[in-house]
Amino acid sequence: MNLIIFGPPGSGKGTYASRLEPKLNIAKISTGDMLREAVKQQTAIGKKVEKFLAKGRLVPDEIAEALIKEKLGELRGKGFILDGFPRTVEQARFLEKIIKIDAIINLIIPDELLIQKISARRSCSCGEVYNIANVNDTINGMEYRLAPVLPKKEGVCDKCGSSLFQRNDDKPEVIRKRLDVYKKQSQPVIDFFRGRIPFVNIHVNSTPDVVTERILSELTKLNR
Ligand code: ADP
Repeated sequence: MNLIIFGPPGSGKGTYASRLEPKLNIAKISTGDMLREAVKQQTAIGKKVEKFLAKGRLVPDEIAEALIKEKLGELRGKGFILDGFPRTVEQARFLEKIIKIDAIINLIIPDELLIQKISARRSCSCGEVYNIANVNDTINGMEYRLAPVLPKKEGVCDKCGSSLFQRNDDKPEVIRKRLDVYKKQSQPVIDFFRGRIPFVNIHVNSTPDVVTERILSELTKLNR
């Protein structure tokens, strides 16, 4: 199964992609993780994209597209879930030309909660994501009960044992810019795909366990 997981920064794309990966036996492909790793290793690409990431801007389409093309080639036909790609209509057109996508999982969450959630995010270089925020809110008649997602030992990743950190772009000044970039450049991707591939619309208003089950059950319905 070839999937895209889409949503604003802080909606939980990385969290759900990580959880769906073993359940669906597909590979999680996160352009954000790949770009951060390139910056950390100071590769040629890493040096080029560093400033974009620090400012909360998107890296040039050609760079993200080249990363994805290479990664998809390595999969040799295994299913995947794309986390963070496509992020512009240009990238969506590119993807449509090179591979067939079975569905897009569209994560829906009110703006008010995003800054709160992103500021409370704690990340691991292996791709795992935790969150110390405890959201208990009713917005437009919908209840949001987003319990914290904590590691067993504070500051240490359950999966790989490395130290957790706060991403440089998870600071308030940069978060605002990322949300702005999302509205202008990424939201149009939703309109591009409407009518072209099946949509799974998911309200992120409960714990990751509950929301993951909801995604799985909606995906099963698509196959009927
Ligand atoms: P989030 O969705 O929480 O903003 P990501 O880890 O997906 O986080 O992305 C972090 C940063 O990496 C983005 O702000 C952007 O600079 C860069 N990036 C990731 N994916 C892409 C992409 N497909 N195109 C352009 N830039 C990207």
